[in-house]
Amino acid sequence: MSSCAVCPRVAPDEAYACATCVRQLRHWLSDLPHQMSHLRAALAPEGRPQQGRVGGSATAPLPVNLSVLNLLGPGWPLPPADPYGDATGPVPIGPLLAGWAGYIAYAHPAVYRDGHGTQRIVPCSGAHSRHGTSVAGWCHWLTAYLPYAATRPWIRDLHRQIADLMSRVYDLTHAEPQRHPQAAPCPACAAFALVAVDGQWGVDCGACGHHLEPEQYTAHAQTLIAAHPAPGDTQMTTDKTTARRAAVQRLTQQDPTRSARSIAADLGISKDTVRRDLAHLTATETPAAPEPEPPAEPPAAPGTAAHARAAVRQLAQAVAEVENARPAHVSTTDEEANHWAAQLRQHTETLRHERQLLADHYPGALIAGATVSHRRTQDTPPAPPVSPQDSIALLTTANPQLAADLDTLTRCGRPTTSAIAHAVSFMARAYRNGWNAGLVPTHLEPLIDVYKIVPYTAPADRKSTGSPAPTTPKTGR
Ligand SMILES: [Zn+2]
Ligand SMILES: [Zn+2]
Repeated sequence: MSSCAVCPRVAPDEAYACATCVRQLRHWLSDLPHQMSHLRAALAPEGRPQQGRVGGSATAPLPVNLSVLNLLGPGWPLPPADPYGDATGPVPIGPLLAGWAGYIAYAHPAVYRDGHGTQRIVPCSGAHSRHGTSVAGWCHWLTAYLPYAATRPWIRDLHRQIADLMSRVYDLTHAEPQRHPQAAPCPACAAFALVAVDGQWGVDCGACGHHLEPEQYTAHAQTLIAAHPAPGDTQMTTDKTTARRAAVQRLTQQDPTRSARSIAADLGISKDTVRRDLAHLTATETPAAPEPEPPAEPPAAPGTAAHARAAVRQLAQAVAEVENARPAHVSTTDEEANHWAAQLRQHTETLRHERQLLADHYPGALIAGATVSHRRTQDTPPAPPVSPQDSIALLTTANPQLAADLDTLTRCGRPTTSAIAHAVSFMARAYRNGWNAGLVPTHLEPLIDVYKIVPYTAPADRKSTGSPAPTTPKTGR
């Protein structure tokens, strides 16, 4: 990347002109043939008196507009030597274009094989236009060689001379393409500098040179309108960045798996901008809504590996985003930093607990040597005699619903074997109650449709009564 030889913008690698300047040149070369008919029409001098002679000039006025004649006439690509300083006027259109074509052809390397079969690289002998040597023909030829010209330092002179020529032509024809400033700000630099020019494809930013295809600009404008429901709202003009971030957030929420590249394409902005906005959104949302929580939450539709897989993938994205945002390296208040630290600690503990559960269900998942402490080891009763973990793993692998239910039962910190014993004992007691009370014949399975859950009491109250936390639901009819 280097700066453009024509304007202050950045030019692509191995090019001396930025995309905007090349687009401008291409537009001029496509417009110039159309200007020729206007120029010929402008040959008649302007402001000629209807009849008679005005003033005391000794000779009749010339019947043509000399400025136009200068441009249309024959000439030489380079201004002639002017020892007396009396040469005036620009280089005519035809010679200027043909001269540039000849220059480019001479600079452009040609490869050929000589009579002995040796490959040789020599300058081209000259420019040959398949579309004739008219202005249109040379414009066509020059347009085709613009990509090559952009890689040469003299693109600056070509741009300056064509710009100079076009300004003279537009002065005489009064047929300059109209510029239409656009209402929406530039999605790349947020400047209100987007302009559509008659005859030019798409919309360009006058500030940063960002180019939008027509459909990209339409999508961009629609997103802005959606982000600002009241068109008369002054917010529209006050906060472009907020609008862009809102658009990025909306698209991300619609489809969390979308890539930054795809969002960038939709909004007509760079993917780096999307990444920055995502990092910003993640950073600002953390205090309000604990984003990484969902993976640790019970699955909405539990029991499928796909659900767990998606949750773990989402977690990976969230962790990567936190890492990218580098919360430790940004400047913020102590209060917010403490809040972030507390959040990170809480999520770390939740994840450690989940990992322990995973190790309980899949003994192979516990990496040898890694010590994982139970969140509530002190609170849980001693584990019953060790049961074969492998058979539990086998059972849960074959039955995702069982795996999800076991996951629920162990979420409070109970080891898997204890959770199974707890659940079986609970159901067995309910069966016995039903049979013993004569509610259900002993050979029938009791139908249990009512649970009684003892309300949770705070630890302080629990201490005064000395009873353990009542977490066991009771059944009853
Ligand atoms: Zn430029
Ligand atoms: Zn811009």
